[in-house]
Amino acid sequence: MYWEKDIETMDRSKLESLQLTTLQDTFIKAEKSYYYGKTFKEKGIGVSSVKSLSDITKFPFTTKDDLRENWPYGFIAVPKEDLVRMHSSSGTTGRATVVFHTAKDIAVWTNMLTRCLYMAGMRKGDVFQNMMTYGLFTGGLGFHYAAEKLGALVIPAGAGNSKRQIQLMRDFATTAVHVIPSYALHLSTVFEELKLDPRKDTSVKIAFLGAEPHTEKMRKKIEEIYGYKAFNSYGLSEMNGPGVAFECPYQEGLHIWEDNFLVEIVDPKTLLPVAEGVEGELVLTSLQKEGMPLIRYRTKDLTRMIPGQCACGRTHRRIERFKGRTDDMLILKGVNIFPMQIEKKLMDIAGVGTNFLIILNRQGYNDDMMVKVEVHKQYFSGDLRQLEALRKKIVEELKGELLITPKVELVEPDSIPKGEGKAVRVIDNRKD
Ligand code: ADP
Ligand code: ZN
Repeated sequence: MYWEKDIETMDRSKLESLQLTTLQDTFIKAEKSYYYGKTFKEKGIGVSSVKSLSDITKFPFTTKDDLRENWPYGFIAVPKEDLVRMHSSSGTTGRATVVFHTAKDIAVWTNMLTRCLYMAGMRKGDVFQNMMTYGLFTGGLGFHYAAEKLGALVIPAGAGNSKRQIQLMRDFATTAVHVIPSYALHLSTVFEELKLDPRKDTSVKIAFLGAEPHTEKMRKKIEEIYGYKAFNSYGLSEMNGPGVAFECPYQEGLHIWEDNFLVEIVDPKTLLPVAEGVEGELVLTSLQKEGMPLIRYRTKDLTRMIPGQCACGRTHRRIERFKGRTDDMLILKGVNIFPMQIEKKLMDIAGVGTNFLIILNRQGYNDDMMVKVEVHKQYFSGDLRQLEALRKKIVEELKGELLITPKVELVEPDSIPKGEGKAVRVIDNRKD
C-alpha cells in the first residue's frame, strides 16, 4: 500500500522536525547561489534566522520574474559541473524558465514520483504508456524514470500522433497512462472516428491526469469515456516537475509531500498566510533540492489545505484540486472569472463535447466574452432548433455562474484547434 511507509505515515511531529533540519540545510545550500547569497546579505538573514518552521515568513518570496532576471545560472547552488540535467517550464506564461538538477536531485525526484504511482495502484507488471512530451518539459522524463523505478514496462510514446497512441495501447495492452486531461478528451474523439470503444477495446485501468487545471466534472467525464480510474497529478518544473502532490485512492485532495516541500498558502493580494482551510496561493520551499533550491516560491496556483487526516493513513497534508492560477483569472466588466468555472458548468450539460475556448473582445469601451463550445455531431444535422435550444441553455447556465451574459457559439466536434501540450483556454483580444 505504501512505497515508503515510514515516510508516508510519519508522525507529524517527527515530520516537522525533519522539515526543520532540511530547511536549515536548504538555507546553507541556497546561500551559495548568486541570487540567494546576494538577497540574504541585503536583508541580513541566513540560516541562523531559522529556529522554527514559522521563521520561513522572515524570508522574501521568490517569483518567476526572479528566475527570469537571473537566467540562466543565477540560482544554481552547486558547481556547474555537478549538474546533470536541465529542464524548463512549458512557458504557459511568458518566457520559459530553466531548472537544473544534480544526480541526487533526479534520484530524489524519481523516488517521490514513484511513491505517487505506487500510491495510485500502479505496480511492477503494469504496462505504462507515457503520452507526454519528452524533452525540456518535465512530464515526459519525470514519469519515465519513476515508472521504470517501480518496475513497470514503459512505453515512451511521447505526445501527439493519436492514431499511433491508440495502436500502441491496443497492441501492447497498456494498463496505465499519463496524459494531459484536454488531450484525453481529444483522443476520445479519435477513438470514435476509428469506431473503437476505449472501454472495451483497451485494457487501461489507471490514468494520471496532470499538467493543467481540470475540474472534478472533467475527471468524471474522462473516467466515463475510458472506464479507467483517473488520478490528479500536480507539479511544476521549478519544484522538479510532476510528483509534488498527488491523489491517493480516496481522492479527497492531493497529498503534498512534506518531506520534500515546506508548504504555505497565502492570500495572493496581501501575501499573508491564510487561515487553515482558506483558499489562497500555494507557496513552496524545497527541502531536498541541491542543484537549485528555491525558497518561498510563489507558484501562482490557487488551492486550499483540506483539514483533517486522510483515511489512507498518510500524514502528509492534502491540498484541494486546483482552481486555476492567479494569472489566468479574467476580469471582465469588473467581474473575476476563472476558466475552470466555465468548464465546470459546461461539463454538466448534456450534448456538450470535449473542448471549449473563451475569446475576449473589446469594442470601444465595451468588453465581451464569447465562449465557443464543441457539441455532439448530431446537433448539426436535422432540426437546428435543438442546436439553438442547447445554445440558449448554455448561455443561461453560464450567466447563472458568472453573473455576466456571455455570447455562446456552438461548433462541431474537433473544430477548436488542439495542440499536443496544455490546452489554450483563453484568447484575449482586448488591447488598449
Ligand atoms: P508553466 O508554468 O510554464 O506552465 P510547468 O510546465 O512547470 O510550467 O507547469 C506547471 C504548472 O502547470 C503549475 O504551476 C500549474 O499551474 C499547472 N499544473 C500542473 N499540474 C496541474 C494539475 N494537476 N492541476 C492544475 N494545474 C496543474
Ligand atoms: Zn490519502
